[in-house]
Amino acid sequence: MRIWGLRDHWVRICYYWNMDPLDWIDEETARLEAAGLLRSLPVGLRSAGGVVEIDGGSVVNFASNDYLGLAADPRVVAAAAEACREFGVGRGASPLVSGRSTVHDALEQRLAEFFGTEAALLFPTSFAANTGAIPALVGEGDAIYADAKNHASIIDGCRLSHAEKHVYQHVDMAALEKLLAEGDNYRRRLIVSDTLFSMDGDLAPLVQLAELAERFNAMLLVDEAHAVGVFGERGRGVVEHFAKEDPRVLERVSVRVGSFGKALGSAGGFLCGKRALVKWMANRARTYVFSTAHPAALSAAALMALDLVDREPGRRRGVLQMAAELRERLQAEGWNTGRSESQIVPVVIGEPHQTMRISQGLRERGIWAPGIRPPSVPEGESLLRLGITAGHTEEMVDRLVGALGELRR
Ligand SMILES: *Cc1c(COP(=O)(O)O)cnc(C)c1O
Repeated sequence: MRIWGLRDHWVRICYYWNMDPLDWIDEETARLEAAGLLRSLPVGLRSAGGVVEIDGGSVVNFASNDYLGLAADPRVVAAAAEACREFGVGRGASPLVSGRSTVHDALEQRLAEFFGTEAALLFPTSFAANTGAIPALVGEGDAIYADAKNHASIIDGCRLSHAEKHVYQHVDMAALEKLLAEGDNYRRRLIVSDTLFSMDGDLAPLVQLAELAERFNAMLLVDEAHAVGVFGERGRGVVEHFAKEDPRVLERVSVRVGSFGKALGSAGGFLCGKRALVKWMANRARTYVFSTAHPAALSAAALMALDLVDREPGRRRGVLQMAAELRERLQAEGWNTGRSESQIVPVVIGEPHQTMRISQGLRERGIWAPGIRPPSVPEGESLLRLGITAGHTEEMVDRLVGALGELRR
């Protein structure tokens, strides 16, 4: 044994002489750079309205998900500051131990009332909500049916579950139906989908998803991260939007996931649904059980943001109206805005270097519109992702359209 131990040592000296075991990262990074896929980390400073100070300059920001302009709203900030003074910054423990405060309790009740469900549960982020909830619903011997363009957090939740995963082409309901019809010897089945897709800005066909869930007795989890506060007559999301067409959508959606990090202007995630489901999640979702509770200041900010969604419907209407006008103008000038029907307006360029060239050109013209490349979008579908927010003015949109026109030439 002793001799082998010595030999190992010697081998290591010979072969790894002066080598860092992390050296492979340099090679892989160089590969990303050559493919035009290396990302830099911009430093954003103050953000006010549609403008952000970034890397020392002031630019019109089309890269924010603060759709309703609530992130810096004085009422939201004041609510957070007050709760922070009362409850401290950190909660010090998981909600199951001692992290849950009266603010958390109030917010969970408010969410349930807001979405018209029996109950709701807070998570540190909605990434955590998905990676916790999906493995709590399905496991070995079960099946998941997932849209090909679902968010990374859903994809990771599916992987963690060990359930058999069936991916259907983006919003292709015939493909989903076929997959569901083929396999019925699973213990449980779960259909998962974003409701508003974060890169394409299109909507999942929830009426058909609900119908299929009903026909095949499958659970249906939908992620409203980009839709809460923006879609639906009262800002409840795409579920509300389609429930107008067919109220069965409300009954058939088993789990609704949402984020406070986008239109609601702070950070954190939640899910809502039946009381029994929420109780199960509080016991079984590992990202709930084993993670420090959502900071009370952010829960208080979220409570205020939900009130503002109710009191100021003009924000979401203005945003959707402005986005519709932008799409029309871009299309008229020959840009490809894909299937967008929301405040997220992609300009599909295709090739990553070309995409970054246009993004850089916009930057030089005082406009911040990031290029989105693989792996965030499929190969050959690199795009500029434009997000319209309540902080944007007509003049800012004019400037964007004008600058894009210049760059096309
Ligand atoms: C952004 C996003 C998330 C992650 O939200 P966080 O609360 O920031 O973790 C989850 N799902 C979808 C669909 C998203 O777009």
